[in-house]
Amino acid sequence: MIDVRDPATGQVIGSVPAGGSPEAIDAIGRAASALPAWRERSGAQRAATLRGAESLMRQRKERLAAIITSENGKPLEESRGEVDYSADYLASAADEAERLHPESVRSRRPDRRLRAIPDPVGVVGAITPWNFPLAMLARKTAPALAAGCTQVAKPSELTPLSAIAFAELLAEAGLPDGCVNIVTGDAATISGAWFSDGRMRKLSFTGSTETGRILMHAAAQHVVRLSLELGGHAPFLVLADADIDAAVAAAMAGKFRVAGQTCVCPNRFIVRASVHGTFAQRLAAAASALVVGRGSDPATKVGPLINDDAVAKVERHIADAAAGGGTVLCGGGRVRVSGCLDRFVAPTVIAGVRHDCLAFREETFGPVAPIAEVGSVDEAIALANATPWGLAAYVMTRDAATLERVGSQLRCGIVGGNVGVISDAYAPFGGCGWSGFGREGGRWGVEEYVSWTYRCDAC
Ligand code: ADP
Repeated sequence: MIDVRDPATGQVIGSVPAGGSPEAIDAIGRAASALPAWRERSGAQRAATLRGAESLMRQRKERLAAIITSENGKPLEESRGEVDYSADYLASAADEAERLHPESVRSRRPDRRLRAIPDPVGVVGAITPWNFPLAMLARKTAPALAAGCTQVAKPSELTPLSAIAFAELLAEAGLPDGCVNIVTGDAATISGAWFSDGRMRKLSFTGSTETGRILMHAAAQHVVRLSLELGGHAPFLVLADADIDAAVAAAMAGKFRVAGQTCVCPNRFIVRASVHGTFAQRLAAAASALVVGRGSDPATKVGPLINDDAVAKVERHIADAAAGGGTVLCGGGRVRVSGCLDRFVAPTVIAGVRHDCLAFREETFGPVAPIAEVGSVDEAIALANATPWGLAAYVMTRDAATLERVGSQLRCGIVGGNVGVISDAYAPFGGCGWSGFGREGGRWGVEEYVSWTYRCDAC
């Protein structure tokens, strides 16, 4: 068995099986057996099951939120939001299941009848991270089921309890046995077994770029389809005409969620020189007012980081930015929380950082806002794009035409204009470059699980 621990205290809160190849293959077998009956169901029937699960999830919000907070550490209020967001994925996928239908295709020849039939890809896999332990699975499972696929899933070893609770909820909503199969244990062994077996026809992964590369190699063996949502390194542009208070509010909403540990958190603040000082001071004032503590404490706005390595990385980024001439306006180090491990980092704002500081070269994944000055909009765009990653970007400006122009020049999958939180279960979430490919949410998310069969009949 593998112990699951509260990241705030290190206390064991549960344990899950240490599965390996036999468990991974067994799960594929169960998914393969369940596939024919599930794919035969109509879209409306599949939608009904998904809606049943959505409704149960909303009823169980408190219980699920408590599980998320216990294993991830995020504030309860954010965990409740994650449950709502997960339920939205079930609702969105249900809508799409109802819409998915064969399409007639116009032919140039009168003696041909052409159709495109949406078939499920088959048995599919999911590997999910710890930062949204429920939502990252829901956004893979719901569209897979909508399309008629069955699934094997491996949650992060740090946060498997939310995934297990989700699978139980799906069963309670009437999902037949074998349609969703959670496997816990060693990640590389389990995914290795899935890829070698050959029956898993697609894998959707959310995690690091490094692991994404490993999975791309492994997928080649049986030519398995992939969706990869990898690291982000989001720029947050504040232009000279921005409403500074609104920009600060957007930055606060995006930067400190999950203690800065989301792939769409603004990581690089790129601010026009004329507003740099005002923006930095106001952001620091707001950030220093955030209460750091255990996620289960109702007053908490920023919880612990997930583990000691995460804390060490954040400290490296802070030290590097300060050594390069950045001014630490607030935070800058750890905060002691009584009865807890030393894993809490104070919300940190660093003004005037160098364009080549560590935090501008790689994702920090922590509650740190490094701010760099730029002299023009074009310089802001160039700095924003000076990275191989391309998931989210944010632009703050009062001018709609500028927003449109700058937004279209940012190389990434998601652009937020004057907002700091952009995720929506009905929209196509995903990136480009080293942030991966494939989209999750809405019809785009379901499309990832559909294999179109083209039928050409003589008539
Ligand atoms: P993070 O740094 O966010 O934890 P990872 O890519 O390490 O990102 O982890 C995301 C998910 O990928 C987790 O479920 C983890 O267990 C899994 N994982 C890590 N390494 C591998 C691997 N070599 N093969 C398959 N899955 C992996």
